[in-house]
Parts: sequence; C-alpha cells; structure tokens
Amino acid sequence: MWVANFWQWVCQSAPRADGRRQSFTQLEDVATALTRRDRTPRVLVILGAGVSTAAGIPDFRSPTTGLYARLETKGQLDASRVFDIDYFRTQPQAFYSLAHELLRETGGCLQPTRAHWFVRCLAERGYLVRCYTQNVDGLERLAGIPESLLVEAHGTMQRAHCTAPGCGAAYDAKLLLRQVVSGEAVAAPPRCSRCQAGYVKLAIIFFGEKLPWRVFRSLMTDLWRCNLCLIMGTSLTVAPVRWIPEQLPKRTPRILLNRSPSGSIGRRPLDLWIADDAQHSVERLVDLCGWREQMDTLAASPASLSDLLPVRFGERS
Ligand SMILES: [Zn+2]
Repeated sequence: MWVANFWQWVCQSAPRADGRRQSFTQLEDVATALTRRDRTPRVLVILGAGVSTAAGIPDFRSPTTGLYARLETKGQLDASRVFDIDYFRTQPQAFYSLAHELLRETGGCLQPTRAHWFVRCLAERGYLVRCYTQNVDGLERLAGIPESLLVEAHGTMQRAHCTAPGCGAAYDAKLLLRQVVSGEAVAAPPRCSRCQAGYVKLAIIFFGEKLPWRVFRSLMTDLWRCNLCLIMGTSLTVAPVRWIPEQLPKRTPRILLNRSPSGSIGRRPLDLWIADDAQHSVERLVDLCGWREQMDTLAASPASLSDLLPVRFGERS
C-alpha cells in the first residue's frame, strides 16, 4: 500500500510536462493550480484571526477600543495573564469576564465568513488535506468542515475540563457556555464536581498547557501529502501554526492571503503574497476558479450558532 502511495506522490510532485514547475505571481496562478485537470489539488489550509473578524468577532488588541483595553480600564482583566493557566487556577474570573464580553458582543449573529465557506468548498471537492486553525470560535465546524479534516491548534470550546493538576475531569461544555453567557461563571466560577477543588475551563489552550498531540500527528503526514498551502488571515507569530509553513518542502507553493506580510512567506521561489483582505481575495479566487455557484449554495445553507453554543445570544445580561 505504501508503495502505491509513494508512487502517487512521486507522480503528483513531478514538474509539468513541459519541464517547468508552475510559477506563482498572481491570484490567477492559484486558480490555475486549483483547477488543473492533470493533477488533483491537495491543499493544506492555515487560518488565523483575520478570517473571523469579518464574522463580528471583536478585536482584542487595539490600544483603546479592543476588548483587552476596555476590560483593563474597568479593572476586570490583566490582559498579559488572562490566558495563563497558573493565573486561571487562582483567578478564573479574569478569563470568564473576557469570555462573557466576547460572547455578548457577538450578539447572536456569528456566522462563518467567505473564507470558511471556501475551505468547506475545498473539502467538498476532495481537495482539502487539512485545515489548521488558530481560532477557537468554532466557525470552521459551523461551516461544515469535517472534523477529520480540521485541527484546532489552540483548542476548542466544544469541550471543558477541570484544571486542577492530576484531575482533568470532563465538564459539560454546553453548561459552562450557558454559565459564561449568563454571567454566572464570572460571579462564581464553576468548580469540578469530582475533586471539588479545581476550577473548570473550556478546552482552549492556555499558556503553560500542552499543545494538542493531534497537531503534530497530523503534520507528520500532511506536510508531504499537500501540493499547495493556503494561509489566510494570520501573521504567523504564534506556535505551533507558525512552524507549519517552515516545515513544508520547498516544492510546495505557499500562498498567503493577508493584508500584511507573514512569517517567511516571500522568501521561496514558489511563494506568493496577495496583499489584500483575505475575504476579498477568496471572493476573487472563487470567481477565477468558477466555483461561485457552489460557494453561494454552501453559504446559503442554514447554519446556527446554537449548533455550537446552545444559548440565546441576543440576550444581554
Ligand atoms: Zn477536578
């Protein structure tokens, strides 16, 4: 079996019949790579916060208007420590204040963006090797990207557990999210029902916690299986995702759709940076590929945030 896979990899990695590799100088070249008939696209996607801001996820870091700044002004948050696991174990209110504000501000209208639907489109066509996301908002799941093709590198809100060392008992994530939205988790952070001591938290990866083993296990095969890497809405500054483009073979084109430069993209011959809003670039790419009808059909399919978070978001506590 592995011989067949290896031979397929050799064949699909070969240069074009005219002896030249495809060059990447503009978005049209990416569309060409995605619609070639002589080679199946196998796309590794990397997503960052930039693809979720269009969904209404509040900005965190703006100096005066960002969520951090506003909560610090109110004395509710030490932004430098809010995602520190040791700090959480003693001061869980800081994280729950942030989460409460964040969920309130989404106002019940959180929907996948065009970039998310585009990744679903790749999956539907059988082109998606894996989507590595740094976001914990769950919009990839909401867009219907199969869980088997999704790696949530910074964790997920789908699960929750006790943070006491040596315990780690599971907690009902839906219940916890309801407690966050209602403000109950801010006033009285819930504790573990097994050890009665540790505070429980959503399975978002905090500083000081181990990264999901699934990230590394998936990469062991994905780095070699893909023949195109699409990076959207990230500055590639946070591990482990920032390592991924570095580990790709040099023959793999690395395409960056982002307003600003990211990581080392641009230093290899097959790199391409489209310096524009990722959503806008995706729309252009969809038209260039001729996938408009499929994209619009997918995006029009009913998706409800309640599938993820069984709470009523329009309510303001
Ligand atoms: Zn416990």
